[in-house]
Order: sequence, then structure tokens, then C-alpha cells
Amino acid sequence: MKTSMNLSCALRRFGLEKAIELHAKAGFDAIDFSLHPFVDMDWQNNCAKLMPGEQPILGDGFVDYVKGLRKYAESLGLTCNQSHAPFPVRVPQIRAYLKWAIEATGAMGGEYVIIHPDNDADAAANAEMYRELLPFAKEKGVKMATENMWNWDYTPGVDHAVPAACSHHEDFLAHVEAVGDDYLVACLDIGHAEMKGLDTDSVRMIKTLGPHLKCLHVHDNDKWHDSHAEPFTMDVDFGPIMKALKEAGYQGDLTLEVDSEFDMDVTEEEALAKLTHLANVAKKLVKMFEEA
Ligand SMILES: [Zn+2]
Repeated sequence: MKTSMNLSCALRRFGLEKAIELHAKAGFDAIDFSLHPFVDMDWQNNCAKLMPGEQPILGDGFVDYVKGLRKYAESLGLTCNQSHAPFPVRVPQIRAYLKWAIEATGAMGGEYVIIHPDNDADAAANAEMYRELLPFAKEKGVKMATENMWNWDYTPGVDHAVPAACSHHEDFLAHVEAVGDDYLVACLDIGHAEMKGLDTDSVRMIKTLGPHLKCLHVHDNDKWHDSHAEPFTMDVDFGPIMKALKEAGYQGDLTLEVDSEFDMDVTEEEALAKLTHLANVAKKLVKMFEEA
């Protein structure tokens, strides 16, 4: 079980190359290749927002560029275990970047690309999107993973998560089974599964998904909001979750998905100290899994 983490925190501040270097120095085995910051969502105008500045990863030669990044990462002892595609996929401009995300993941050597389902579509409608991408994913040797999502009810007195695609364990399994192909697997987002209002939890998710479960997004919260906090700082109890993973024969990696975005004036030393701490948190979770 490798330790991994979303590259997005460091890459916004330091760029891809330096972010990779910092994750290697911090002691992670792998990275979750965050592609979504490059094709972000402009929530105000309901369209895609490309990362400003010269971004070779968005250019015509992106495959060779990413292959160079992979070489650099591997020279530092770091691999890519999975990646995160742009979202939300209901926006056509963003959906148009899914093949780009699959190809970039393959060039980086990643086995899985996490592609969110459309929150408001059912298993059959989401299966259409994944099925359309299947031949391309197979050609590139990259498996797609769907993820448990959430919507929010802001009504006073409610103010918590409400169901969305894959948010309930049975619906998550239905999404995977609707595609019915080894190239569409499950990425369990532990933080999402623990949010109030979704009538599920990580342990039930793990038991229901069984062998379909191949990837994780690990983070902590107050069991209400989607805090994406570092594990062991809030209310999620990771002991029973690691035990359930062990009992389910989980073969994948331990990938943190924390939101500790660095301020734009954080120094390299400060970032490295934070990432080193997070790598140790990931190692602690792996140890809990191994000893469960
Ligand atoms: Zn996630």
C-alpha cells in the first residue's frame, strides 16, 4: 500500500516540477496527479476557467511534456498512482477535457483517473458517459474510477449534505455495475461518506463495493461539512475504516485528499515541513491498515 497525496496544494503555489520534488522529499511514495486546477470551474459564469499563464500541460505537446514530468518524478523515487480529472462533468467545456485527462494520466504512468459522475444524473445516465470513454481509456491503459459525491441543502434548519450520484453505498455499486467493465472502478471518498445526511458511512461503502474498490480519497471532517482536513484532526474514526479495508482485501493505495492549500507566499521550507507531516500521517494510516 503506497502513500500518496493530491498534488494540487503544492502545484498552485510552486508549479508542477517543484511540487513533485517537494512530495518526493516529504517521503510520499506516489502522487495523485491533480489535473483539475488546470481546467477549473468558473462558478460565476458556469464555464471552464483555464489556469492562466504559459501551461505546457494544456498545449499540443502535453503528452511529451508529461512524459518528461514522469521521468523526473521517477528519478526522485516517486510514481503516479492515480489522477483527478476536471469537474463538474455536466459542463460541456469541462467534459471535453476528460480524454485529455485520461491521456495525461497514461503519460504520467498512473493506473487510475478519478472522473466524478454528474452529481444529478442517475447510474444509467452516468454509465453512458463512462461507456463513451471506455475505448479511449483502454487504448491508453488507464482505468477510470467513479466517486461518491454530495449535494447540499441550504434550507435553514437543514443545512447539510443530501444525496447525489454514488453518495449512498447501494447507488455507488449500481453506478459501477451499470458500466460492468474492469475499466470502471470505485474511488471511495472517505470524507464524503462520513457526512451527515447521506445515510451511509465508509465501512458500509467498503463492504458493499467489495472488489470494485480500487482507490481512496482520505481526509477528515466534523461528520457534517466537507472539510478535506488532514486525518486525525477532526471527527472521522479511521480505525474501523482501516479494519474494513483490510477485511475486504483492499489492494490499492492510501491517497490523501487534503485541502491545505498553501498561501501564495508560503516558503519552500514551510511547504516541505507541512508535506512531510502529511506523509507521516499517511504512513500512520498504512500502519493501522497493516496491523488491523
Ligand atoms: Zn474526493
